[in-house]
Amino acid sequence: MFSTDPVLILGGTTEAAALARKLAAEGLSVITSLAGRTRDPAPLPGETRIGGFGGVEGLASYLRDNQIAVLVDATHPFAAQMSANAVVAAAKAGIPRLRLERPAWEPRADDSWIEVADEEAAAAALPSGARAFLALGSQHLAPFAKRDDVHFVLRMVDAPQSAPALASHEIVLGLPGDIESETALLRGRRITHLVCRNSGGEASYAKIIAARDLKIPVIMIRRPAEPVPPVAETVEEAIAFIGSVLSA
Ligand code: NAP
Repeated sequence: MFSTDPVLILGGTTEAAALARKLAAEGLSVITSLAGRTRDPAPLPGETRIGGFGGVEGLASYLRDNQIAVLVDATHPFAAQMSANAVVAAAKAGIPRLRLERPAWEPRADDSWIEVADEEAAAAALPSGARAFLALGSQHLAPFAKRDDVHFVLRMVDAPQSAPALASHEIVLGLPGDIESETALLRGRRITHLVCRNSGGEASYAKIIAARDLKIPVIMIRRPAEPVPPVAETVEEAIAFIGSVLSA
Protein backbone atom coordinates (compact mmCIF):
# COMPACT_ATOMS: atom_id res chain seq x y z
CA MET A 1 0.00 0.00 0.00
CA PHE A 2 1.52 3.39 -0.87
CA SER A 3 0.35 6.95 -1.28
CA THR A 4 1.93 10.21 -0.36
CA ASP A 5 -1.49 11.77 0.26
CA PRO A 6 -2.72 11.38 3.83
CA VAL A 7 -5.50 9.25 5.28
CA LEU A 8 -7.75 11.34 7.54
CA ILE A 9 -9.22 9.44 10.49
CA LEU A 10 -12.14 10.98 12.36
CA GLY A 11 -11.24 9.62 15.79
CA GLY A 12 -12.15 9.55 19.46
CA THR A 13 -12.41 5.75 19.75
CA THR A 14 -10.03 2.87 20.52
CA GLU A 15 -10.52 1.57 16.97
CA ALA A 16 -9.46 4.95 15.51
CA ALA A 17 -6.28 4.93 17.59
CA ALA A 18 -5.49 1.33 16.61
CA LEU A 19 -6.00 2.17 12.93
CA ALA A 20 -3.71 5.22 13.18
CA ARG A 21 -1.00 3.06 14.76
CA LYS A 22 -1.24 0.35 12.11
CA LEU A 23 -1.32 2.73 9.12
CA ALA A 24 1.62 4.72 10.49
CA ALA A 25 3.53 1.46 11.00
CA GLU A 26 2.96 0.72 7.29
CA GLY A 27 4.56 4.07 6.46
CA LEU A 28 1.39 5.90 5.44
CA SER A 29 0.77 9.54 6.17
CA VAL A 30 -2.01 9.69 8.79
CA ILE A 31 -3.92 12.58 10.31
CA THR A 32 -6.28 11.89 13.23
CA SER A 33 -8.98 14.43 13.94
CA LEU A 34 -10.37 14.75 17.48
CA ALA A 35 -13.38 16.82 18.54
CA GLY A 36 -11.46 18.25 21.50
CA ARG A 37 -13.76 16.90 24.22
CA THR A 38 -10.90 15.15 26.09
CA ARG A 39 -8.62 17.55 27.92
CA ASP A 40 -5.43 15.52 27.59
CA PRO A 41 -5.79 12.98 24.76
CA ALA A 42 -3.27 10.13 24.57
CA PRO A 43 -0.60 10.82 21.91
CA LEU A 44 -1.09 9.15 18.52
CA PRO A 45 1.35 8.39 15.72
CA GLY A 46 1.13 10.71 12.74
CA GLU A 47 -0.44 14.15 12.91
CA THR A 48 -3.31 15.10 15.24
CA ARG A 49 -5.68 17.99 14.65
CA ILE A 50 -8.22 19.07 17.25
CA GLY A 51 -11.63 20.77 17.00
CA GLY A 52 -14.65 20.89 14.69
CA PHE A 53 -14.27 21.62 10.97
CA GLY A 54 -17.25 23.98 10.78
CA GLY A 55 -19.87 21.63 9.36
CA VAL A 56 -19.97 19.87 6.00
CA GLU A 57 -18.46 22.75 4.03
CA GLY A 58 -15.59 23.10 6.49
CA LEU A 59 -14.79 19.40 6.31
CA ALA A 60 -15.06 19.32 2.50
CA SER A 61 -12.61 22.27 2.30
CA TYR A 62 -10.24 20.55 4.72
CA LEU A 63 -10.30 17.37 2.59
CA ARG A 64 -9.49 19.36 -0.57
CA ASP A 65 -6.92 21.71 1.00
CA ASN A 66 -4.99 18.84 2.57
CA GLN A 67 -5.29 16.51 -0.45
CA ILE A 68 -6.76 13.75 1.69
CA ALA A 69 -6.68 10.42 -0.17
CA VAL A 70 -9.23 8.56 2.00
CA LEU A 71 -11.53 9.62 4.83
CA VAL A 72 -12.13 7.05 7.57
CA ASP A 73 -14.97 7.92 9.90
CA ALA A 74 -14.01 5.99 13.03
CA THR A 75 -16.03 8.13 15.45
CA HIS A 76 -18.15 6.63 18.24
CA PRO A 77 -21.39 4.88 17.16
CA PHE A 78 -23.38 7.70 18.82
CA ALA A 79 -21.51 10.57 17.10
CA ALA A 80 -24.25 10.79 14.46
CA GLN A 81 -23.68 14.38 13.33
CA MET A 82 -20.02 13.88 12.50
CA SER A 83 -20.80 10.66 10.61
CA ALA A 84 -23.52 12.34 8.55
CA ASN A 85 -21.18 15.24 7.76
CA ALA A 86 -18.44 12.81 6.68
CA VAL A 87 -20.69 11.17 4.07
CA VAL A 88 -21.65 14.46 2.42
CA ALA A 89 -18.23 16.13 2.68
CA ALA A 90 -16.38 13.18 1.13
CA ALA A 91 -18.84 13.15 -1.77
CA LYS A 92 -18.35 16.89 -2.27
CA ALA A 93 -14.57 16.50 -2.25
CA GLY A 94 -14.80 13.45 -4.53
CA ILE A 95 -12.81 11.10 -2.28
CA PRO A 96 -13.61 7.65 -0.85
CA ARG A 97 -15.06 7.49 2.68
CA LEU A 98 -15.25 4.44 4.94
CA ARG A 99 -17.27 4.04 8.11
CA LEU A 100 -15.38 2.03 10.75
CA GLU A 101 -17.99 1.02 13.33
CA ARG A 102 -17.77 -1.78 15.84
CA PRO A 103 -20.82 -4.09 15.81
CA ALA A 104 -23.64 -3.35 18.22
CA TRP A 105 -24.26 -5.73 21.13
CA GLU A 106 -27.02 -8.23 20.45
CA PRO A 107 -29.28 -9.54 23.22
CA ARG A 108 -28.92 -13.20 24.13
CA ALA A 109 -31.87 -15.45 25.00
CA ASP A 110 -31.07 -15.05 28.72
CA ASP A 111 -30.83 -11.23 28.53
CA SER A 112 -33.78 -9.08 29.47
CA TRP A 113 -33.52 -5.93 27.32
CA ILE A 114 -35.98 -3.14 26.72
CA GLU A 115 -34.67 -1.40 23.59
CA VAL A 116 -35.50 2.30 23.30
CA ALA A 117 -34.70 5.07 20.82
CA ASP A 118 -33.13 7.65 23.12
CA GLU A 119 -32.63 8.91 26.68
CA GLU A 120 -36.17 10.38 26.80
CA ALA A 121 -37.64 6.97 26.05
CA ALA A 122 -35.26 5.33 28.53
CA ALA A 123 -36.46 7.68 31.28
CA ALA A 124 -40.10 6.90 30.42
CA ALA A 125 -39.44 3.13 30.49
CA LEU A 126 -38.36 3.07 34.16
CA PRO A 127 -41.08 1.90 36.55
CA SER A 128 -41.91 3.98 39.60
CA GLY A 129 -39.77 3.02 42.59
CA ALA A 130 -36.91 1.68 40.44
CA ARG A 131 -33.26 1.97 41.49
CA ALA A 132 -31.59 2.64 38.15
CA PHE A 133 -27.90 2.50 37.33
CA LEU A 134 -27.33 5.12 34.61
CA ALA A 135 -24.22 4.14 32.65
CA LEU A 136 -24.33 7.41 30.70
CA GLY A 137 -22.18 10.51 30.44
CA SER A 138 -23.18 13.49 32.59
CA GLN A 139 -24.34 15.37 29.44
CA HIS A 140 -27.12 12.78 28.95
CA LEU A 141 -28.82 13.01 32.35
CA ALA A 142 -31.33 15.84 31.74
CA PRO A 143 -34.18 13.60 30.43
CA PHE A 144 -34.12 11.70 33.75
CA ALA A 145 -34.67 14.82 35.89
CA LYS A 146 -38.46 14.55 35.71
CA ARG A 147 -38.38 11.05 37.29
CA ASP A 148 -38.45 12.06 40.96
CA ASP A 149 -40.04 8.66 41.71
CA VAL A 150 -36.83 6.81 40.71
CA HIS A 151 -33.50 6.58 42.58
CA PHE A 152 -30.47 6.94 40.29
CA VAL A 153 -26.95 5.59 40.76
CA LEU A 154 -24.41 7.39 38.56
CA ARG A 155 -20.84 6.38 37.83
CA MET A 156 -18.41 9.19 37.12
CA VAL A 157 -14.66 9.29 36.59
CA ASP A 158 -14.26 12.57 38.52
CA ALA A 159 -16.52 14.10 41.15
CA PRO A 160 -18.85 16.59 39.40
CA GLN A 161 -18.38 20.33 40.00
CA SER A 162 -22.12 20.75 40.61
CA ALA A 163 -24.67 18.19 41.77
CA PRO A 164 -26.66 16.48 38.95
CA ALA A 165 -30.25 17.76 38.70
CA LEU A 166 -31.76 14.44 39.78
CA ALA A 167 -34.02 14.45 42.85
CA SER A 168 -32.77 11.18 44.32
CA HIS A 169 -29.31 9.99 43.36
CA GLU A 170 -25.91 8.78 44.50
CA ILE A 171 -22.57 8.94 42.71
CA VAL A 172 -20.02 6.15 42.43
CA LEU A 173 -16.57 7.33 41.36
CA GLY A 174 -14.66 5.06 39.01
CA LEU A 175 -14.39 3.46 35.58
CA PRO A 176 -16.21 0.46 34.09
CA GLY A 177 -14.82 -2.67 35.72
CA ASP A 178 -14.70 -6.42 35.21
CA ILE A 179 -17.67 -8.77 35.63
CA GLU A 180 -16.92 -9.32 39.32
CA SER A 181 -16.78 -5.62 40.22
CA GLU A 182 -19.80 -4.73 38.06
CA THR A 183 -21.78 -7.53 39.74
CA ALA A 184 -20.73 -6.28 43.18
CA LEU A 185 -21.77 -2.75 42.24
CA LEU A 186 -25.20 -3.72 40.90
CA ARG A 187 -25.86 -6.00 43.84
CA GLY A 188 -24.42 -3.68 46.51
CA ARG A 189 -26.48 -0.68 45.32
CA ARG A 190 -29.63 -2.87 44.98
CA ILE A 191 -30.02 -1.90 41.33
CA THR A 192 -33.30 -2.93 39.69
CA HIS A 193 -32.59 -1.53 36.16
CA LEU A 194 -29.48 -0.80 34.11
CA VAL A 195 -29.71 2.04 31.57
CA CYS A 196 -27.00 2.23 28.90
CA ARG A 197 -26.27 2.94 25.22
CA ASN A 198 -25.53 0.20 22.73
CA SER A 199 -21.89 1.18 22.31
CA GLY A 200 -20.69 -2.33 21.41
CA GLY A 201 -17.13 -3.52 22.05
CA GLU A 202 -15.50 -5.29 24.96
CA ALA A 203 -14.48 -2.38 27.19
CA SER A 204 -17.87 -1.75 28.78
CA TYR A 205 -19.62 -5.09 28.20
CA ALA A 206 -19.01 -6.49 31.72
CA LYS A 207 -21.98 -4.58 33.15
CA ILE A 208 -24.27 -6.28 30.59
CA ILE A 209 -23.02 -9.71 31.68
CA ALA A 210 -23.43 -8.73 35.34
CA ALA A 211 -27.03 -7.61 34.69
CA ARG A 212 -27.73 -10.88 32.86
CA ASP A 213 -26.35 -12.95 35.76
CA LEU A 214 -28.38 -10.96 38.30
CA LYS A 215 -31.51 -11.02 36.07
CA ILE A 216 -31.65 -7.23 36.04
CA PRO A 217 -33.51 -5.71 33.05
CA VAL A 218 -31.40 -3.52 30.76
CA ILE A 219 -32.91 -0.44 29.16
CA MET A 220 -30.74 -0.34 26.06
CA ILE A 221 -30.60 2.87 24.03
CA ARG A 222 -30.34 1.98 20.33
CA ARG A 223 -27.75 3.53 18.05
CA PRO A 224 -28.99 6.75 16.45
CA ALA A 225 -28.49 5.69 12.82
CA GLU A 226 -27.52 2.78 10.59
CA PRO A 227 -23.99 3.29 9.24
CA VAL A 228 -23.81 4.40 5.59
CA PRO A 229 -21.82 1.89 3.45
CA PRO A 230 -19.07 1.08 2.85
CA VAL A 231 -18.66 -0.11 6.45
CA ALA A 232 -15.78 -1.92 8.16
CA GLU A 233 -16.49 -3.59 11.50
CA THR A 234 -12.84 -4.10 12.43
CA VAL A 235 -9.53 -2.29 12.05
CA GLU A 236 -8.31 -5.12 9.79
CA GLU A 237 -11.27 -4.65 7.44
CA ALA A 238 -10.57 -0.92 7.35
CA ILE A 239 -6.92 -1.52 6.44
CA ALA A 240 -7.99 -3.84 3.60
CA PHE A 241 -10.37 -1.16 2.27
CA ILE A 242 -7.72 1.56 2.45
CA GLY A 243 -5.21 -0.72 0.72
CA SER A 244 -7.64 -1.41 -2.11
CA VAL A 245 -8.46 2.26 -2.76
CA LEU A 246 -4.84 3.43 -2.51
CA SER A 247 -3.60 0.80 -4.93
CA ALA A 248 -6.50 1.28 -7.39
P1 NAP B 1 -21.29 14.60 17.12
O1 NAP B 1 -22.46 15.04 17.94
O2 NAP B 1 -21.55 13.66 16.01
O3 NAP B 1 -20.52 15.85 16.52
C1 NAP B 1 -20.80 17.21 16.82
C2 NAP B 1 -19.76 18.06 16.17
O4 NAP B 1 -18.51 17.89 16.84
C3 NAP B 1 -19.47 17.72 14.72
O5 NAP B 1 -20.44 18.29 13.84
C4 NAP B 1 -18.09 18.28 14.55
O6 NAP B 1 -18.10 19.70 14.46
C5 NAP B 1 -17.44 17.96 15.89
N1 NAP B 1 -16.75 16.66 15.87
C6 NAP B 1 -17.21 15.44 16.26
N2 NAP B 1 -16.26 14.51 16.13
C7 NAP B 1 -15.18 15.13 15.61
C8 NAP B 1 -13.87 14.71 15.24
N3 NAP B 1 -13.48 13.42 15.41
N4 NAP B 1 -13.02 15.64 14.73
C9 NAP B 1 -13.40 16.93 14.58
N5 NAP B 1 -14.62 17.40 14.92
C10 NAP B 1 -15.49 16.52 15.43
O7 NAP B 1 -20.16 13.98 18.07
P2 NAP B 1 -20.17 13.68 19.66
O8 NAP B 1 -21.16 12.63 19.96
O9 NAP B 1 -20.22 15.00 20.37
O10 NAP B 1 -18.71 13.06 19.81
C11 NAP B 1 -17.56 13.88 19.71
C12 NAP B 1 -16.33 13.02 19.66
O11 NAP B 1 -16.23 12.22 20.82
C13 NAP B 1 -16.30 12.09 18.46
O12 NAP B 1 -15.05 12.24 17.84
C14 NAP B 1 -16.50 10.72 19.03
O13 NAP B 1 -15.75 9.73 18.34
C15 NAP B 1 -16.03 10.88 20.47
N6 NAP B 1 -16.80 10.04 21.39
C16 NAP B 1 -18.15 10.18 21.46
C17 NAP B 1 -18.87 9.37 22.33
C18 NAP B 1 -20.38 9.47 22.40
O14 NAP B 1 -20.98 8.80 23.26
N7 NAP B 1 -21.05 10.23 21.55
C19 NAP B 1 -18.20 8.43 23.13
C20 NAP B 1 -16.82 8.31 23.02
C21 NAP B 1 -16.13 9.14 22.16
P3 NAP B 1 -18.08 20.46 13.05
O15 NAP B 1 -19.46 20.30 12.48
O16 NAP B 1 -17.73 21.86 13.40
O17 NAP B 1 -17.04 19.79 12.18
